[in-house]
Amino acid sequence: MSIQDYSDPVLRGMPRGKIAIIPVGSLEQHGPHLPISTDSDIVTEVARIVAKRCDLLLLPTITYGNSFEHAPFFNLSITTGTLQRILVEICLSLSQNKIQKIIILNGHHGNQGAIKGIESRIHAKSGRRARVFAFSYWHFMKEEFDHAGFVETSLMLAISDKVKMKFARKGLISGDLTPRQRERVSKLAATHFIKATKNGVWGDPTKATKKDGERILSEITQNISKTVSKLAY
Ligand SMILES: [Zn+2]
Repeated sequence: MSIQDYSDPVLRGMPRGKIAIIPVGSLEQHGPHLPISTDSDIVTEVARIVAKRCDLLLLPTITYGNSFEHAPFFNLSITTGTLQRILVEICLSLSQNKIQKIIILNGHHGNQGAIKGIESRIHAKSGRRARVFAFSYWHFMKEEFDHAGFVETSLMLAISDKVKMKFARKGLISGDLTPRQRERVSKLAATHFIKATKNGVWGDPTKATKKDGERILSEITQNISKTVSKLAY
């Protein structure tokens, strides 16, 4: 259930061991066919489903992420240091309110720097009380992660009515590259996405379907739920 739906006495009476989940997204270009809130929308829905299934306390999504690599395409970004500080302070505040188990669920590649090593940092700053687990949702699916390609577009078709398939265009197809070329283009995309992909799309969204999105969403949420159920003990 969402934390916004609870009153103070209920929250202060939460059982020990209650786990909170904080989704973290971005606001950045996802080609001409997807909204800039795509990462935030997907990670919010994944967190909502997992929170319901595993009885977690769902926190509001942090919709601002680090997407400077998408310039000159549209992106509304905060730096890695700022994002990490926001996350650390929210987790410490949760800890002061006796919620000591916290999952940070990331939905954007460029946020990985902000969550790297954050578990031990928060653990130390909380007087070894808070236990934080930081995950990126795409590590819980078989399909290769993309950007506005088949996976993200299918997921959005499954959860949103904002997809404009008539504008969907094929972007960089990494399957055609040698491992060495792939590594080079991945590095380039991490700093200058436009140079790696030209149209801002990594993958091919043209064959995306709602059905595929539902299948991938169910795979991701089931796998995350399995991991979460182990954290509860
Ligand atoms: Zn995305």
